[in-house]
Amino acid sequence: MAGLSKSRIAAFEQCPRRLWLQVYRRELADWGEGTEALFAIGNEVGEAACALHPNGVMIEAEPDLAAALETTARLIAEDHPGPLFEATFMHRGVLVRVDVMERLPDGGWHVAEVKSSTAPKDYHVSDLATQVWVLQGCGIDVRSAAIRHVDNRFVLQVPGELDGLLRDADMLGKLGGIIADRDDVVRAAQAVLAREEPQTAPGDHCSSPHDCEFAAHCRRGEPLPPEWPVTVLPRGAGAAWQARGYDDLFDVPADRLSGVNAIVHAATVSGTPHHDRGGAAAEMMQWGWPRAWLDFETIAFAVPRWVGTRPYQQIPFQFSLRLEQEDGTMTHAEFLSTDGTDPRRACAEALIEQIPAGAAIIAYHAPFERSVLRYLAGCFPDLSAELQDMAERCADLLPITRRHWYHRDQRGSWSIKKVLPTMADLNYASLEVKDGGDAQGVYLEAIDPATDPDRRLLLREALLAYCERDTWAMVLVARRLLVESV
Ligand code: SF4
Repeated sequence: MAGLSKSRIAAFEQCPRRLWLQVYRRELADWGEGTEALFAIGNEVGEAACALHPNGVMIEAEPDLAAALETTARLIAEDHPGPLFEATFMHRGVLVRVDVMERLPDGGWHVAEVKSSTAPKDYHVSDLATQVWVLQGCGIDVRSAAIRHVDNRFVLQVPGELDGLLRDADMLGKLGGIIADRDDVVRAAQAVLAREEPQTAPGDHCSSPHDCEFAAHCRRGEPLPPEWPVTVLPRGAGAAWQARGYDDLFDVPADRLSGVNAIVHAATVSGTPHHDRGGAAAEMMQWGWPRAWLDFETIAFAVPRWVGTRPYQQIPFQFSLRLEQEDGTMTHAEFLSTDGTDPRRACAEALIEQIPAGAAIIAYHAPFERSVLRYLAGCFPDLSAELQDMAERCADLLPITRRHWYHRDQRGSWSIKKVLPTMADLNYASLEVKDGGDAQGVYLEAIDPATDPDRRLLLREALLAYCERDTWAMVLVARRLLVESV
């Protein structure tokens, strides 16, 4: 029978069918976007955890896991002082590789499961319990066990010096009951693997604690959802109507809706966009001149690369800026750093150089642009006053659009990527970089020293085209809001 691992037991605890599919029908999995990026972050944090123990020994799974089991057993038998990385144990058919094992002065072991999150999560606990259960079953004296997570208060002071990046949340005290039920859990998981595919029906468990990669397989026999599902109603209203038994937005009584939900319902049922030109114009008239249409792209590293930065700090590496005068003249300026050095100072100086004092700064979802400007202000005291002033002057086109425009093709979203195609013959489909996630991936490739210079130039062009599209999209949205609908 197929063996179990920590992650397979976690899959079983979410859903027996998920475990079965992972073991026997992996080809049905659809991992979705972002999975690779999450793995990359996990690996980066894992490498940092090892780098913090230069005397540690990595137990390689070469040529196979049997070799890792053998090496681990030998090192334990030799009373190795540790730390050990990826020490490998098997108990009752469950194989685990332990991220970090450290010897305590009394000879026992401290076990750490490394996570890239900034705090332990509930589902980490059973992962750790499975590991401790296996270790104890193998006769290892586990004295403490922790989730070793990223401490987002850490600030990089010296390049590459990561002491303090990770923090242990001790968990052994919370594991008792969960360790005690591992025998039963493992037996039940093994029983599932000995049978045909379970026919567990899809439900809330399919997205908690993780989105299941087999959703398409399990839902393949279900009736198609309505063309306009009630879930397009924003801010949780759709879920509330669904809980009352409604699936189709057309079935929801109009007289029981108000505010934005009534607007979304009416625009969807009639097919006519909601457009309040006068309301939009009145709000935009409050903005002064010239107008600086601004959009940032940022990157956030789990393991900080630049001195003075924290884990997961949003660091701007690019902006696009369209400067519009009252007479309609428009110029474009941009900033993009792809040499791999800390981009913050150059970015801050470029902003100050390009944005005239007193200009109205306009963003789409301005809290983000404001937070970046305030962050840069905090980084550079000599530039702080000008950057803070910019943050104060930052106006937001998103709530104006939300109040005064809705087309049913937005399907409940006012993201600029959803709004733009409903207003103009323009979208992001033809661009190599289509969203912020793509931009971060392309940026990481561009700053990688191994990237070929010609390739880097192409990546730069793709990033510039994307960010420029974002500010042009804002301008088009604002202009369309001011045009009377026919
Ligand atoms: S989609 Fe849902 S029912 Fe199907 S395997 Fe995943 S969690 Fe289980």
